[in-house]
Amino acid sequence: MTESGPRLLLGAPIATEMRARVKVEMAAFRRRHGFVPTLAVVFVGRDAPSAVYLQQILRSCRNAGAVGRLVHLPAGETAAHLRREIELLNADPLVSGIIVQMPLPKRIPLSVVIDAIDPAKDIDGLHPRNFGLLALGYEGFLPATAQAAVEILKRSGIALEGQHAVVVGRSNVVGKPAALLLLREHCTVTVCHSRTVDLGAHTRAADIVVVAAGRPGLITGTMLKPGAVVVDVGINMVAEGIVGDVDLASASAVVSAISPVPGGVGPITNAILLQHLLRAARAQVEGTPDRRLRRPPTRPPAASTPRPS
Ligand code: NAD
Repeated sequence: MTESGPRLLLGAPIATEMRARVKVEMAAFRRRHGFVPTLAVVFVGRDAPSAVYLQQILRSCRNAGAVGRLVHLPAGETAAHLRREIELLNADPLVSGIIVQMPLPKRIPLSVVIDAIDPAKDIDGLHPRNFGLLALGYEGFLPATAQAAVEILKRSGIALEGQHAVVVGRSNVVGKPAALLLLREHCTVTVCHSRTVDLGAHTRAADIVVVAAGRPGLITGTMLKPGAVVVDVGINMVAEGIVGDVDLASASAVVSAISPVPGGVGPITNAILLQHLLRAARAQVEGTPDRRLRRPPTRPPAASTPRPS
């Protein structure tokens, strides 16, 4: 931390650069194939944070030269209808990517989406095929928010190798994949969740804390190690507006760097979805290797060092 407070890990400059590149590549795709990829965003019911997030995604699609198609189903919609909608999108050749906005109404299990979505169009990495590829260290479609949480650290020049990272939250869409991605970056990873005993004891031991719990003010300064780096993934609507899961005022007195909410992970998530959309579109029309198993390039280990496992 400096006298003026911690370094703010801002998502906007990173996202702007990513989106500019996607826009150029999207235009090239259009010239080559004569159509613009469509991202279908399926949204069931009403949820205030989701609505904000959705509008941002649709706007970024337009700005990047892609099509954002909102498929809004009423709150009382059945699981069977949701499955049918996803199947129609799977079969639509203009739709290159599909995301289903969470949370779903409690009556509809996530398995409905997971069972229905075509893994080639699953650009938010929900399908077991994509999740399995992530777990095994291959490149499928990564869950965009988890990827964004790690990307903001990497692009901000935060050293990850050998660091103790604590992830708060174990959902399949954020916490669990973020933990796997941090492992891939050679962090030592602890995953905490709602049944963790003495959360603060874990977070206080961490060099890096990634918080994705959806609980405003869950992490306070007394729960953090001096000099720690914090990525706040939470998005919560409170009376004052949108806040994360970290109490910014108390955390700022302790940490060396923190991503704000809004303005941290969110814009990068959004840009990553556009990257994934383009990649999915290419794979579908050009048969690029995304349909095959492909290991990401890794740095060869030093001769005397055992392979990481
Ligand atoms: P979720 O409700 O599916 O999972 C929350 C996780 O937090 C669970 O694993 C739970 O065990 C854990 N948790 C809850 N209370 C806890 C506590 N008191 N102590 C420790 N752990 C606790 O939520 P999610 O879909 O993973 O989303 C998490 C947050 O991230 C939400 O605020 C969501 O709005 C936000 N989000 C942000 C983005 C983005 O782009 N920034 C995208 C998606 C989700």
